Amino acid sequence: MATMTEKEKIKTFTTHYIDGAFVGSHGREVMDIINPTNGQVIARVTLADEEDARRAIAAARRAFASFGRTTKEERAKILRRLHEVVSAHVDELTAAMVEEYGGTVAFSRILMEGAANAFLSAEKALQELPLTRTWGKTTVTLEPVGVAGLITPWNANSFFLSAKLASAVAAGCTTVIKPSELSPLQTRVWLECVREAELPNGLCNVVAGRGDVVGAELVRNPDVAKISFTGSVAVGQTIMRDGAATMKRVTLELGGKSPNILLDDADLDKAIPTALAIAFMNSGQACVAGTRLLVPKARLDEVKRAILAAMHAFPAAIREIQRPRSDRW
Ligand code: NAD
Repeated sequence: MATMTEKEKIKTFTTHYIDGAFVGSHGREVMDIINPTNGQVIARVTLADEEDARRAIAAARRAFASFGRTTKEERAKILRRLHEVVSAHVDELTAAMVEEYGGTVAFSRILMEGAANAFLSAEKALQELPLTRTWGKTTVTLEPVGVAGLITPWNANSFFLSAKLASAVAAGCTTVIKPSELSPLQTRVWLECVREAELPNGLCNVVAGRGDVVGAELVRNPDVAKISFTGSVAVGQTIMRDGAATMKRVTLELGGKSPNILLDDADLDKAIPTALAIAFMNSGQACVAGTRLLVPKARLDEVKRAILAAMHAFPAAIREIQRPRSDRW
């Protein structure tokens, strides 16, 4: 039986998802996607350019005319449907993340279960949140702001695709999503879920391109009312600055270096393995990785010894902590 050559195994992506269909890229730049665990090229993606982004924005704007007027129940129905289809494809999403990103199966699965459950969380929030409130003679009505540009980071791409789309749908916004350009495999599996969910055309448009090309177009385009961005501090600063020109509403979730703090009476047998797990989960590639540890000066040497000792048991400990649990999300 013939086996596939390395070249044949490389997946090729040349389309973007605009107005409910996969359409050929106007952008021409081609980027190799490399499996970080073995350095092999696993995919080739044709990147979107500004024109692709503008087409997606136009589709989202057209769709907003009707989607912006949907009721809570109509949006809730879409969220439940998205939860259903993404839940049914957690295995494929996990496999794509592992292959493309190099994360562990356990960690990637937790994220993908979270991606599915994000739709239910958004539905719950939508059901519980009164969209109209009155104080004395003042009535405040929460209305969708318009087209939302959603930009995701490399280290949790599919989770944020779901979480950001879920919030936008709950709010009644249509979307143009710019996934991390390094994540076409995950994005494609996720998009097959979106297609299966049969959303209204133009509600969810996805254009994969470079940040300083497609992302920048979303940030400066006057037809995009809001940007939701997760990524680095430096890019967040650019978005906040450039978005001001069109008075964008901007939500930024950035990187951090928040420390864990050990108090005088900390039980090091428990605290140190937990601190290591928090620092090194997902190979240390997490915005929430607690990579600093503040300790009482008097216990510094003791803590150092405990860290060295705990390192030996770490691989087994991390497997236990990352074990998928149904009650996690
Ligand atoms: P990044 O900032 O380089 O890129 C994030 C996204 O922004 C990508 O899609 C990128 O293409 C896009 N982008 C780049 N330049 C842009 C521009 N000028 N305009 C608009 N978009 C632009 O970050 P990354 O390397 O993909 O992800 C890792 C970073 O994200 C780390 O700093 C990590 O701490 C952070 N992060 C934060 C959270 C959180 O919840 N706070 C979660 C995950 C990751």
